[in-house]
Amino acid sequence: MKTVWEKLSDQQFKEVMDLSEDYKKFLDEAKTEREAVDQSIILAKKAGFKEFKANGKVKSGDKLYFNNRGKSLALFVVGKKPLEEGLNILGAHIDSPRIDLKQNTVYEDNGLALFDTHYYGGIKNYQWVARPLAIHGVVCKKDGTVIKVKIGEKEDDPVIEISDLLIHLAKDQMKKTAAEVIEGEDLNALAASIPYKSKKEEKDLVKKNLLDILKKEYDIEEDDFLSAELELVPAGKTRDLGLDRSMILGYGHDDRVCAFTSLRAITETEKPDRTSACIMTDKEEIGSVGCSGAQSDFFVNCVAELINSSDEYNDLKLRHALENSKMISSDVSIAFDPNYPSVSENKNTAFFGRGISFNKFTGVQGKEYSNDAPAEYVAKIRKIMDKNDISFQFAELGKVDQGGGGTIAFILANKNMDVIDAGIPVQNMHAPSESVSKADVYEAYRAYKAFLKEMN
Ligand code: MN
Ligand code: MN
Repeated sequence: MKTVWEKLSDQQFKEVMDLSEDYKKFLDEAKTEREAVDQSIILAKKAGFKEFKANGKVKSGDKLYFNNRGKSLALFVVGKKPLEEGLNILGAHIDSPRIDLKQNTVYEDNGLALFDTHYYGGIKNYQWVARPLAIHGVVCKKDGTVIKVKIGEKEDDPVIEISDLLIHLAKDQMKKTAAEVIEGEDLNALAASIPYKSKKEEKDLVKKNLLDILKKEYDIEEDDFLSAELELVPAGKTRDLGLDRSMILGYGHDDRVCAFTSLRAITETEKPDRTSACIMTDKEEIGSVGCSGAQSDFFVNCVAELINSSDEYNDLKLRHALENSKMISSDVSIAFDPNYPSVSENKNTAFFGRGISFNKFTGVQGKEYSNDAPAEYVAKIRKIMDKNDISFQFAELGKVDQGGGGTIAFILANKNMDVIDAGIPVQNMHAPSESVSKADVYEAYRAYKAFLKEMN
């Protein structure tokens, strides 16, 4: 089987590299779900998208977006056909595994001030220690102001770090299993060590000094952490991986690489037959729950608003719109790793450089908790991919009974629409640095674009 690289014309090779440069910039600016929404809105506005207003009339060709609390986003290019006939939907998630600060977070221990944390999503704790971490997020004050925080990304910014035990004294630690070697409750990030200058005998002066800095520099007080969402993420920029620059090493490919390529596809979509949609959702890594997760009514409400603004609304029209829709649930797939060949079965594994990876199903054990895409729908997908000369592969998430994973696919499929999982193969998924092939990023973008245009 030929790789994407061997098929590319010189012009396409340049397109691959140019797209990757744009993606690397996006990833560097979008290290949280909120930042991903902000960046996506900037790119969408450049492409002519406007925020939906309920009092206007919606017509074919309109490019609209709905912003849900700054944490999830839905974008639409209104089609020529009525919404009742269904939409072509791309859906990706913009949250990634990370380490969140607790609400009661700052404390002092023997002259050091630390932040206590609670990890988010599935991480191997030991991968997150002894490395520079940046603080991203928001602090919401009682007066309604929202302070955006981003510390640790500029070259001269300070960073924080979770320490690891030195090898010299790790005799007991090294006997532990990988799951226990760094325990979740021990993920405490070192944040300061200079005491506050005080004339009286006081305790916790280092903590006091840290809070003083936070107050002076960011107007954040200790109680404000109660209403904050602060995420510790790997500090630093996305890098080219490989001496041939064929791959990208960065934080949060899962699933911003699918979000970015889906966004690029919809922003380049003009006057489609069926309405195009792109969902960028939050909370996938913890079960797609909550108001900004895929299980929320947000997307359905958006479709209802669009019907109401283009036609006479009724519930049946909304139900028809949903059940006539077709979706690619785009989430990263597992790339074969020569260091760990035993976890996959090579006939049904995705490889770097072979294009977008479709998963008819994901899930665990006997395909449990997965959306198993209907074969008739898979055939339609194959037809569009072949017609547009897009490299694709069909894969599973590891060999049978090795493990597995879930996506948002089943949630939208529960609205009775056709959904298939597809995405870009990733190595070291959920690690602070994940890797993808630039060729696959390009083929996914082309696949999403063809899907929006041609699926019916
Ligand atoms: Mn994912
Ligand atoms: Mn994930």
